[in-house]
Amino acid sequence: MLTGRTHTAGVIGSPIRHSLSPVMFNAAFVAAGMDWAYLAFEVGEGKAVGAMEAMRTLGLEGVSVTMPHKGAVLPALDTVSEDAALLGAVNCVTRRGGSLHGDNTDGPGFLDALRIDEGIEIESHACVVVGAGGAGRAVARALAQAGARVTIVNRSAPAAERAALLAGNSARVGGFADLAEASLVVNATPLGMGLGSDPGGRLEPLPFDVTLLAPGQVVFDLVYHPAPTPLLVAATAQGLRSVPGVGMLVHQAAHAFRHWTGEEPPLVAMRLAASTVLSERGAG
Ligand code: NAP
Repeated sequence: MLTGRTHTAGVIGSPIRHSLSPVMFNAAFVAAGMDWAYLAFEVGEGKAVGAMEAMRTLGLEGVSVTMPHKGAVLPALDTVSEDAALLGAVNCVTRRGGSLHGDNTDGPGFLDALRIDEGIEIESHACVVVGAGGAGRAVARALAQAGARVTIVNRSAPAAERAALLAGNSARVGGFADLAEASLVVNATPLGMGLGSDPGGRLEPLPFDVTLLAPGQVVFDLVYHPAPTPLLVAATAQGLRSVPGVGMLVHQAAHAFRHWTGEEPPLVAMRLAASTVLSERGAG
């Protein structure tokens, strides 16, 4: 039962009503027997700083940050992790007494999905990240920090160069010809997302020509809806190992849970909650 003592957390973004975070976090709090509640707040563009002030005033313990506010919250925070500062993107804000601290949990969440869910250690392997937006930059940097050799392939060259710079020495900009040499291929573009809601087929379903993939590769799609995505359907049909984005979604939230509560998150409950909602939503 929610009481006057219940700890509160939430997510800010726009649009936000489709977010899986409330379902995942509330399932986690119930499974852990914790007196916490998590809500979704529709916060329009230009209102991120005000939302952070509200977090301070209302005493929210933690706030997840999603589009379009991941960069805009930065000036409102007292401290920021090195990764979040370099990436220019915060997806998790933690209240520490009277001050607010920002982290980016996308990279650690991605690596945990590889290591914990798939048992894959990526050190010294060649990886191609297709896409160089907020998620692509975080994934490329995390892979490079884990010791992988990273190639970034992106539609626009300046974004690819910025991502390679952020990832560090082992990263470079490449092209689709590099796909064949990679152990791991990551889709960090939105292509394939929510195709069921695009019956006219205006969206391109695949981020690259799947005949460029090679035997033995692992294909990781950050897109998690529909499940499976067109890319993962095609990869599986070619006998490749495919990793859906829901694992990263769960693990990035698990890192936020640790930041806010100091406790280990109930991963099974979080994954079950996210997967149940995704399967209820179907292909749309
Ligand atoms: P973003 O910042 O908007 O970046 C999108 C990237 O995709 C850019 O590199 C963009 O290229 C490229 N792109 C977009 N449309 C394209 C097209 N038609 N053809 C070729 N390239 C295209 O988005 P984001 O935040 O990085 O998110 C990317 C995807 O990852 C989204 O689907 C998001 O839902 C998903 N995601 C999943 C998780 C998870 O936990 N599983 C976490 C974060 C994000 P340009 O640079 O040329 O514009």
